[in-house]
Amino acid sequence: MPTLAEHTAQSLDITLTPAQSDAFARYAALLREWNTRMNLTAITGDDEINIRHFLDSLTILKACPFEDGAKVIDVGTGAGFPGIPLRIAQPGLRLTLLEATGKKVTFLEAVIAELQLGSTTTVKARAEEAGQTRPHRAAYDVAIARAVARLPILLEYLLPLVRVGGICIAMKGKTAQTEADDSANALKTLGGQLDRIETFALPGIDEPHNLVIVRKVAHTPARYPRQAGAPAQKPL
Ligand code: SAM
Repeated sequence: MPTLAEHTAQSLDITLTPAQSDAFARYAALLREWNTRMNLTAITGDDEINIRHFLDSLTILKACPFEDGAKVIDVGTGAGFPGIPLRIAQPGLRLTLLEATGKKVTFLEAVIAELQLGSTTTVKARAEEAGQTRPHRAAYDVAIARAVARLPILLEYLLPLVRVGGICIAMKGKTAQTEADDSANALKTLGGQLDRIETFALPGIDEPHNLVIVRKVAHTPARYPRQAGAPAQKPL
């Protein structure tokens, strides 16, 4: 079974240092340990964690290399995906992990402390609230999300958080193009423009892995995001 460092080198041309490989191993151990007490992930095997959580998250760095110091927010991060793997692989990122469920935030705090991840903070809030508050609205260079909502809904969570000129990256499976097609009104309303969709193949996994990359080209009107629940109930 290849190691994570071998996977990242082969699939993504990303070299992990021994210290980074060790951080990933400790993160996997924490994930498995806490998963016995709370529902964090259905993926628990070593190789599965390496590929479906870590390698999958790191495709973002391959598609969109971030500058050191970039402010990144991971919306609906759950157990830290894709944000924490990105922060381990690129320590210069300034990362905010946004998650609505308190227990998951407690886990994220434990990972940050154990791995001594500087410039990494958690926010326990819904995206709809964060997008209307001062420290977060239009405050980020990049907003990312995996497995949180269909794209027309997700764009109402992500675009308000990003500065004009910044980008949103949505990790999607085979429905990426359909979801992008369904997002024309959300993009126009919220000030986004579809930049491109990048496709990756992960070792041993049949389904396509797509990154939908959206650029923010205009300010998001003040009424968006709407109140909590509204984007999902009545998508743009
Ligand atoms: N992104 C992680 C991953 O890919 O493993 C977690 C995915 S999990 C299926 C979706 C997560 O998004 C949950 O932890 C949920 O609490 C969070 N979430 C859903 N809607 C949210 C919202 N409006 N604001 C903040 N978090 C949200």
